[in-house]
Amino acid sequence: MEQSRTVSPLNGSVLVLNRFYMAVHVVSVRRAMVLLYRELSEVIHVENGHYYNYDFESWVDLSQFMASEESCNQCDWIRSVNFSVQVPRVVRLNYYDKVPKLTLRFNRRNLFARDQNTCQYCGNSHALSQLSFDHVLPRSRGGKTTWENVVCCCLKCNGKKGDQLTKEAGMKLIRKPFRPRQNPLLTVKLNNPKYEIWRTFLIGGSSLAQDVG
Ligand SMILES: [Zn+2]
Repeated sequence: MEQSRTVSPLNGSVLVLNRFYMAVHVVSVRRAMVLLYRELSEVIHVENGHYYNYDFESWVDLSQFMASEESCNQCDWIRSVNFSVQVPRVVRLNYYDKVPKLTLRFNRRNLFARDQNTCQYCGNSHALSQLSFDHVLPRSRGGKTTWENVVCCCLKCNGKKGDQLTKEAGMKLIRKPFRPRQNPLLTVKLNNPKYEIWRTFLIGGSSLAQDVG
């Protein structure tokens, strides 16, 4: 397939379902298109409240049709020399029938998403390059690296607090750190109208794609 000259739609995310329509993962648009092109998955698309399944070829066909229709605010397109393909939001794996494990990975990305890229001491939001994380109870005093003891923190506040207790540094947390019930990156996505269709497969479902890459 031809690569798009506009790369931004490829940076979006696609919800991946197993054969039983249970959310198992979130992948990049690029990865989803590979799965689709190799016939390992199909697109799940909603039209007038109904869900339809498309393989790569029929999705490309439908995309031509949709491209000629009225424009859709929430749609993204991969445009190549020969044709345009609408970016799918959900794909279903044709041969994968495992049920996902409910794990929630503790990592920087998820932690920053939980705290919405906001320093938990000064309350300012920052670019990722300006963010670090802080052990509320410092590691030197037995503090653990857990959801309940680590917060997103700007470099300035991080330097100020150093190895002290919050009180000793004369600082205050704006919110007590907690273990999220759902993957925070998913929460961020679900607040974006582009990913509205994900709700069907995530909210109230028996399985959640907790283990987002
Ligand atoms: Zn700060």
